[in-house]
Amino acid sequence: MPEFQIQIERLTDEPDRFEFAASGHWWVEREGTTQDKPCVVEAPFLFDMVASRCRDEVLIEGDIKGRVGLECSRCARRYPHVLHDTYRLVLTPAKDHESTDPEGERGLAQNGVCLGEDLEAGLYRGPVIRLDDFLGEAIALAMPIQPLCDEACLGICPHCGVDRNGVGRNGTDVREKGQGPAAACDCEDERIESPFAVLASLKPELGSEEGE
Ligand SMILES: [Zn+2]
Ligand SMILES: [Zn+2]
Repeated sequence: MPEFQIQIERLTDEPDRFEFAASGHWWVEREGTTQDKPCVVEAPFLFDMVASRCRDEVLIEGDIKGRVGLECSRCARRYPHVLHDTYRLVLTPAKDHESTDPEGERGLAQNGVCLGEDLEAGLYRGPVIRLDDFLGEAIALAMPIQPLCDEACLGICPHCGVDRNGVGRNGTDVREKGQGPAAACDCEDERIESPFAVLASLKPELGSEEGE
């Protein structure tokens, strides 16, 4: 298990740059048992970080990059999702008699840090802070709540269960580039939902009136 750690004493008011990488294995070990929808890590997570210290206050800023395979919340297809998020954490020293909850105390004892709920502020104690938990939570926050293979994903037809994106039987995407998706099924309310389809259904009647 990698340990992403920073020595407080080495930090100055001149920002120091740190780069950490975390394998998919590290993430799966952390989250594997709690995630109901498994996420496949396709590339190591990269953390680019800048840390500085002004008197007792430690500022950590940076970004996360990663690529994971997620299940689309509309069509249930697996797709590669690019993760990119930024974080900014301000740490102040934990005073000896300051009361933190048991989890906070555990964090201070194990990692030298206790994080606030929003991951933007926290306390530290001791000469070294370990950021595994922080980086793990930052990845979890960067994960989409409703993963979408495409903003325009049409999802699955609630009536016949067909993938409305027009995915072929062999699982390949048969949508043609630059064109809208072909109708995947003829279920009734699809036509009613589309104003153009309603117009199209009126046209023959208009045509027959003109012909008279
Ligand atoms: Zn989708
Ligand atoms: Zn249908």
